[in-house]
Amino acid sequence: MAAFEEALAAATAVAGRVPKGLYIDGAWRPAQGGKALAVEDPATGSVIAEVADASVADALDALAAADRAQQAWAATPPRERGEVLRRAFELMLARRDDLAGLMTLEMGKAFAESQAEVSYAAEFFRWFAEEAVRIDGGYLTAPGGGSRVVVMRQPVGPCLLITPWNFPMAMGTRKIGPALAAGCTVVVKPAKQTPLSMLALVGILEEAGVPRGVVNLFTTSRSGAASSALLDDGRLRKVSFTGSTEVGRTLLGQAAHRVLRTSMELGGNAPFLVFDDADLDLAIEGAVQAKMRNVGEACTAANRFYVQRSVLDRFVSGLAERLGGLRVGHGLDPETEVGPLIDGNAVQSVGELVADATAAGAKVVTGGAAIAGDGYFFAPTVLSGVPGDVRTVREEIFGPVAPVVAFDAEDEALRMANASEYGLASYVFTENLARGLRVSERLESGMVGLNQGIISNPAAPFGGVKQSGLGREGGRVGIDEYLNIKYTAVRAAW
Ligand code: NAP
Repeated sequence: MAAFEEALAAATAVAGRVPKGLYIDGAWRPAQGGKALAVEDPATGSVIAEVADASVADALDALAAADRAQQAWAATPPRERGEVLRRAFELMLARRDDLAGLMTLEMGKAFAESQAEVSYAAEFFRWFAEEAVRIDGGYLTAPGGGSRVVVMRQPVGPCLLITPWNFPMAMGTRKIGPALAAGCTVVVKPAKQTPLSMLALVGILEEAGVPRGVVNLFTTSRSGAASSALLDDGRLRKVSFTGSTEVGRTLLGQAAHRVLRTSMELGGNAPFLVFDDADLDLAIEGAVQAKMRNVGEACTAANRFYVQRSVLDRFVSGLAERLGGLRVGHGLDPETEVGPLIDGNAVQSVGELVADATAAGAKVVTGGAAIAGDGYFFAPTVLSGVPGDVRTVREEIFGPVAPVVAFDAEDEALRMANASEYGLASYVFTENLARGLRVSERLESGMVGLNQGIISNPAAPFGGVKQSGLGREGGRVGIDEYLNIKYTAVRAAW
C-alpha cells in the first residue's frame, strides 16, 4: 500500500507540473474565453487536472502558426530535423517513469504497460530521426531518350494529427516523428480524455529544440467543429487520424471536399486462430498478451478466438485460469496487472456485449461483469460456446473479454476470420510453418502475428485493410505518408 501511495503522489506531482495550456507558435497560452476541460483518473473517477479547452479560433491560430513555420522547417537540413527528434527520444527515455506514471494516472493501464508504451513511443522519434536523412529521389532516362526525369520527394506541408486516448503517447510519436522528419509542420489534437501525456510530450519537443510554430497543440471539447474548420482551410495539406472507423469515415468525407491527403488508422476486430498443431502453452500466453494488453482497449486486441475443436477445452480452461488470476486494480499499484477501462460508457458497452452473447447461449467461464466500487473496472472474462454471429464477435469489444468459437477445418476458420468489415490485425498459432504462412497470406488484414501476441514495433509498417484504414505508420514507409513525389523533366539535348 505504501508503494502505491508513493507512486500515486509522484504521478499526481508530475501531472501538476505538466503545462495545461495550448501550445501555439512556440508559446503556451490559455484558451480564448478561458474555458477549461477536466481530466479524470479512470481508476477513481476523480478529477486530476484541468487543461485549456480550445475554441475554433484557437485551432485556426495553431494552423496559421504551422503555415508560417512550414517553409523554413522544410528548408532546415534533414540532419538538424533528425537531431531534434533524437534529443526528444533521449529526453523521453530519461523521464520514462515520470511519463509512465502520468499516463497511468489519466488513462488507467498498469504502470509497467505505460513504461512499455513510453519506450515504444520514444522509438518512433529515434527511428524517424534516422529516416530524416534518407529521403531519396531518382534520376531516370525517358524510354525514348531526349529527356531526363529528376524525381524528388518534398514535405506535404502543414498536417493535422488527431490521436486517440488508448495509446496517448505512441499514437502521437508515430505521426509527429515522420511528419517532422519529412519537413512538415504539425497541429496536434489529442483525445480529451488523455491530454496530459501529449502536453508532456510537446513540452519535451520544445525542450529538444523544435523551432517556433513547427509543433502546435490544442486540446478541446469541440473536436468536430475544430477539425472541420481546419479541414476546410486551404493552408492545411494533410490529416492523419487514429481512432474509430466511425469518426474516420466522417473525416474522410470532409477531406474529400478539398481532396486532402489522408492517413487513417481505424478500428479493428482481430481474429485469433489456434490450430490443433499449435504449442498450446504458447498460444495461451499469446492470447493473454493479445487480449489483455491495454485492458483490451487496443485496435490490435484479439477480439474473437477461433480454436480447433480437439484443443478447445484445454485452450478455454488454460485461458480462463490465466485471465481469472490477473490482479485488477489501480494501475499505479505495483501489484496491479489490469487497470480500469477508460470511462463508465466503456464499462456499460462491454457489459452489453457480454449480455448479448450469454443471451445467445454463450457460457461465462470466468469474469463476466463489471466490478463494483469506484472507477471503471470490468473483470477479465472468457466466454465459451459463443455463436459465431453475436455482437461480441462482430463488433470491436475494446475491453477484457475473450469470446471463444470452435472450428473444425482450416477453410472454415479462415471464412469466419475474414467475415468482417475490419482488417487490421490477425493472430495465428500453429507449429506447421507452411500452414502458418498459407493462412497468413489468406487472412484479410494488414498485419498478422504468427505465434506471437504482440505485433507492434517501430520497424514494422503498421496499418490495416478494408475499413481498418488507409496508409501505414512506422517502418521504412511511414515517412512516405508525409511526402509528395514530384519530378522535373529535363530537356537533354546532348
Ligand atoms: P474516437 O472517438 O474516434 O476518437 C479519436 C480522436 O478523434 C480523439 O482525439 C477524438 O477527440 C477525435 N474526434 C472525435 N470525434 C471527432 C470528429 N467528429 N472530428 C474530429 N475528431 C474527432 O476513438 P477513441 O475512442 O479515442 O479510440 C478508440 C478507437 O481508435 C478504436 O476504434 C480503436 O480501434 C482505434 N485505434 C486505432 C488504431 C490504429 O492504429 N488502427 C490505434 C489505436 C486506436 P475527443 O476525445 O474530443 O472525442
